[in-house]
Amino acid sequence: MPELPDVEGFRRTFQRRAAGKQVRGASCDAEILRNSSPQALGRAMRNSTFEAPERWGKWLICPAGANTMLMHFGMTGELIWLGDETERHPDDRMVLHFSDGDLRYRNMRKLGGVWLARTDAIEEVLGPLGPDALELRENAFIGRLKDRKGSIKSALMDQKVLAGLGNLTVDESLWHARVSPRASIKSLARTDISRLYRKMNKVLRDSAKEGLVPAKRTWLTGARSQRDPRCPRCRAKLNRGTIAGRTTYWCPSCQ
Ligand SMILES: [Zn+2]
Repeated sequence: MPELPDVEGFRRTFQRRAAGKQVRGASCDAEILRNSSPQALGRAMRNSTFEAPERWGKWLICPAGANTMLMHFGMTGELIWLGDETERHPDDRMVLHFSDGDLRYRNMRKLGGVWLARTDAIEEVLGPLGPDALELRENAFIGRLKDRKGSIKSALMDQKVLAGLGNLTVDESLWHARVSPRASIKSLARTDISRLYRKMNKVLRDSAKEGLVPAKRTWLTGARSQRDPRCPRCRAKLNRGTIAGRTTYWCPSCQ
């Protein structure tokens, strides 16, 4: 599922393939467009030139003059440059045509979607979104968690608290910081929150470079898909359970 690191990879793809180029046309399935029609999207995009894209949390924001296209990748979305390949994949829900090839928004399960907004009014699409998890400073992180009830995992998953984290990045950050995903925020000392911030930042930076959360042998993500998942640090059998509605792995000994 695309989280901040994946969308950062899509941002780089868009920057390399679409920024500074004129769009010849856009074809789109009506069912993936959330606030527009394929005709309106085509009219808005045709002959316009994309500027540098931005990422905010899991959103990709692609301004082109007065109009901005916004993409969210849901559970299965991705952005693919197919160059000279003309065959359309059944899950390609939107295709942006350029003189040197097509950029395709592929999304099997059709969660997420594509929005069109006036460039000066994109907040109407984004809604109440916290600051980007990679841009956030430590003091702001501490401030946003302060006085919150509930578990640390559910707070980190909440896009209104901070934007961009998902199940993998949250579990990975908590494991590196040796904090239990079930811990209530109240129970954590300021030094725990500081350590969590530093580890989260490192996890996000390392992952964003690769465009995904890498399944390294020294990371929790490398262990969670194994048949007998064990902690890469202490070799204890990992716990698995549902926290904040998502399948969560953690080490009962380190965390
Ligand atoms: Zn452990």
